[in-house]
Amino acid sequence: MDFQQVFGKPPETQAKAPGRVNLLGEHTDYYDCFVLPTAIPQCTTVQLGFSSDGQHHFYSENLNEQVNILDINHTPSGFASYIFGCIEVLQKAGYIIPSLCVYVKSSVPMGSGLSSSAALEVATLRALRQLLNLPIDDVEIAQFAQQAEIQYAGVQCGIMDQMASSLADTEHILFLDTRTLERRVMPLPNNAEILVIDSGVPRTLASSGYNQRRAECEEAARSLGVKALRDITDVNVTKALTQPLQRRAHHVVTENNRVLEVLQGVTSERFGELMNASHASLRDDYEVSVPALDKLVEILQKTEGVFGARLTGAGFGGASVALVRSRQSKGIATHVLEQYNQAGYNGRILVPSLGLSDAA
Ligand code: ADP
Ligand code: MG
Repeated sequence: MDFQQVFGKPPETQAKAPGRVNLLGEHTDYYDCFVLPTAIPQCTTVQLGFSSDGQHHFYSENLNEQVNILDINHTPSGFASYIFGCIEVLQKAGYIIPSLCVYVKSSVPMGSGLSSSAALEVATLRALRQLLNLPIDDVEIAQFAQQAEIQYAGVQCGIMDQMASSLADTEHILFLDTRTLERRVMPLPNNAEILVIDSGVPRTLASSGYNQRRAECEEAARSLGVKALRDITDVNVTKALTQPLQRRAHHVVTENNRVLEVLQGVTSERFGELMNASHASLRDDYEVSVPALDKLVEILQKTEGVFGARLTGAGFGGASVALVRSRQSKGIATHVLEQYNQAGYNGRILVPSLGLSDAA
């Protein structure tokens, strides 16, 4: 099914936005800290047309599902909430949005930690900007996208995913200060590319674990008398805390310092070491890893051609990210998955994609 088949006419416009993977600075964007995401080749395309019956109609090719918005005072559930949210946050900001036909197709894996949700929001907002000539820039697109996800999809997310989808590309890393939104685009480390492998373990405990960690770190910041853990730069200061707050704060402060080291300019080898240290910190201090992710990361770290590897995203399952020698990612993935799957797991490569096209 394409736009024409679903809505009986061609679209007026379309826009794309990529998914993202975070290379360093994990579980820190909600403490006002620094992050280092990059865009992945897979992206989401949103096509728009005007609706003639006064109602919004949303169609997802990936889900083969259509949602008709009969009552704009009632937020829809599921994928429609992200699109509806984008429309509503623009309306609240004073823009007048007509009734629309929206068609979504995507090559970003959904729910795997590669931020298909931000790609959907940013592509929707870009398409709306184009269709209606809205005077909004890429940072505002990211901010509207985050508001849509928080207020309409009900996900208490930071700003990283939307900023990465809106501002990053696949050749560069985006250094982002999530407090000030100060940012710098840097090339990927020399002779290196990104490999993302899914552990095959669903992130079942991720949201309860996330809420608990967040509460612990907010308590740690209160005890130390700062607004957020971002304000602590000397790791020794965390020694004043009781456990487990000390371990949680230790992760955040050391992770921040790792990102700042990259900002000074590092080799691929050093970047890899920092990723390995990040994994150890997420496993031992922040305690968001699981045996499957530890196994996958351990195999990656021992494999020739891998500079470094760690879990990425929320943890409690989900994916690993590795920095590997250029043009070696697919060979490395085959080797790693053979060992990982022999250990009884069911991993799969997510980036680079093995599909024919990332273009969605
Ligand atoms: P992630 O962002 O890591 O992929 P999330 O749980 O945040 O995982 O977002 C996934 C949700 O986003 C899906 O369950 C769906 O509601 C919505 N979504 C993303 N991409 C699409 C798409 N192409 N079609 C329909 N819904 C999508
Ligand atoms: Mg998401």
